[in-house]
Amino acid sequence: MSQTVSQSQPKRMPTIEELGFDPGALREKYATERAKRLRTEGNNQYQEIMGQFAHYNVDPYVEPGFTRPALHEDLDVLIIGGGFGGQFAAVRLQEVGMSNIRIIEKAGDFGGTWYWNRYPGAQCDVESYVYLPLLEQTGYIPKEKYSFAPEILEHAQRIGRHFKLYERACFQTQITEARWNEGAGRWTITTDRNDVFHARFVIMCSGPLNRPKLPGIPGIENFTGHTFHTSRWDYHYTGGDSSGGLHKLQDKRVGIIGTGATAIQCVPHVGQTAKQLYVFQRTPSSVDRRGNRPTDPDWVQTLTPGWQAHRNENFCTLMAGRPVDEDLVNDGWTTLFKKLTRLFSRRNNADLTEEERAALTEIADFQQMNDIRDRIATTVQDQRTAEALKPWYGQWCKRPTFNDDYLPTFNRPNVRLVDTHGKGVDRVTDRGVIVDGIEYAVDCLIFATGFEVGTAYTRRAEFELYGRDGVSLSEAWAQGMRTHHGVLSHGFPNCFHMGLTQTGLAPNFTYLLEGQSYHITQLINEVNARKAVTIEPTPEAVAEWVELMSKPNALTEYQNACTPGYYNGEGQNTGIGFVGTQYPQGAVAFFKMLARWREQGDFKGVVMK
Ligand code: NDP
Repeated sequence: MSQTVSQSQPKRMPTIEELGFDPGALREKYATERAKRLRTEGNNQYQEIMGQFAHYNVDPYVEPGFTRPALHEDLDVLIIGGGFGGQFAAVRLQEVGMSNIRIIEKAGDFGGTWYWNRYPGAQCDVESYVYLPLLEQTGYIPKEKYSFAPEILEHAQRIGRHFKLYERACFQTQITEARWNEGAGRWTITTDRNDVFHARFVIMCSGPLNRPKLPGIPGIENFTGHTFHTSRWDYHYTGGDSSGGLHKLQDKRVGIIGTGATAIQCVPHVGQTAKQLYVFQRTPSSVDRRGNRPTDPDWVQTLTPGWQAHRNENFCTLMAGRPVDEDLVNDGWTTLFKKLTRLFSRRNNADLTEEERAALTEIADFQQMNDIRDRIATTVQDQRTAEALKPWYGQWCKRPTFNDDYLPTFNRPNVRLVDTHGKGVDRVTDRGVIVDGIEYAVDCLIFATGFEVGTAYTRRAEFELYGRDGVSLSEAWAQGMRTHHGVLSHGFPNCFHMGLTQTGLAPNFTYLLEGQSYHITQLINEVNARKAVTIEPTPEAVAEWVELMSKPNALTEYQNACTPGYYNGEGQNTGIGFVGTQYPQGAVAFFKMLARWREQGDFKGVVMK
């Protein structure tokens, strides 16, 4: 990183005595814990849910036997995915007068993530007032600062009704193929319901965490008890609903594998009712305070038009490490960033060198994680369990979590943490789980093992796209994504991508989706205004964008030193992780850059003809 070395004396760093901890010792501890978890297989340690495991992917929320007549339609736009991304795209298209559209969705309703993730306790960690889309347009105010999953799913349905999107949606429909027809200047899309759509444009919104995965633990197929993945929660078996009350587990021994953001939320509910709960841990999460509260009606009265966009911009700017005058969201996410912002800011620390700034940033991170570890020590009574629950990595290595019930659950006599010391579960038998040679017999085994990240884009989308000359997207992206501005790719005219596709990473995912849908709609508008048929980036523009996205930046450097996880491609540092290959300055700066690019009017790097 380039630096301006100040003429002043180097700033004195706090001593070990002043800090109350030894940064060198912590660095060493983090490295040791990381090394324990590094696996040469990287992402290949996980099993794809297919074949004998296909039942883990079945939709438990629809009645079996749905049928409908096949559709044959000519469309302006076909949108793939009915989560918030697909809904944003449809709403934006309507705004510019394009209504000949279809939304194709595999699930039985809108909602995306929130359709699938109905496990007990499911809640969005991002503040509801910024996360829930289109609040002002739909006239809805969330009930609490952090919404639980049912409220978010209901809001997705509200958006569907308000904007009449249900009329344009095909649910329980899986795309089987999308193929570009050069002569017609159209995409031909087929589905598992024998539909055939011809569409001028396709928008891919299939989501970043849509495909559940299983760990590569030997023996899963031999387990004879009940089993499911958290994103397909089986309430017929557990009883209760997303607010808990899992009464059918009262006589059951349950095992949960995984301790990520999902487990943190569902473990308290299972622990409350199960006869016995074993939580199998490979790496502990960092669990911060939740601090939820009902929405204050007086605050609602103060809101003026444009408030949501303003709040979102404020949140995402702060979370990109840029200074803001006021922290509107003011929660666990923003607290650390405020500390960091003060350190990053040249205005506040004009005399700091880059090295000094980096050293202070690291100290702030250590302090934050020390608070997280202290909270465990004071909450969990059994000191061995408390020690095992302590995360030894930087705050942004893994998804931070916020929950007030997870840690106290380990004080219950029926709940036991089975720590695998970073190795993971050894084996699953017909009746239980083996760790360190000990078999833990369970009636039910729940996989809280997350979703595919870093696998091929088309594998996650669950169908193939064939662009010009029949080249598949899997071939074209065999060495990684190749986009221009994260939305278009060469050889695949009129096909737009949304989501984590070499774009500006936002801590609030719906902010990202809103910006992308706006940009895509502007591009389609421009094609129409020019009476052009196709839009496609040049290979040179794509190469340039890929090069920019692949350059190491502060975030990727930080991630490279992290314990393995889906953020950093399971520690392989190949840039395929969640935070790899994204616009280095974050989403707010990314969308400003796109706006400037559009305003220039020549749409440099993109050909419309
Ligand atoms: P994660 O991928 O975050 O967690 C998977 C868990 O499974 C990890 O603890 C992992 O351990 C563990 N695991 C994997 N293999 C093994 C093994 N062989 N033995 C034992 N344990 C194993 O998935 P989640 O579903 O928890 O979360 C996915 C993402 O979804 C979140 O990070 C977040 O982005 C989102 N989410 C958001 C929420 C919200 O509030 N908005 C709520 C819930 C989820 P290890 O860490 O060692 O790899």
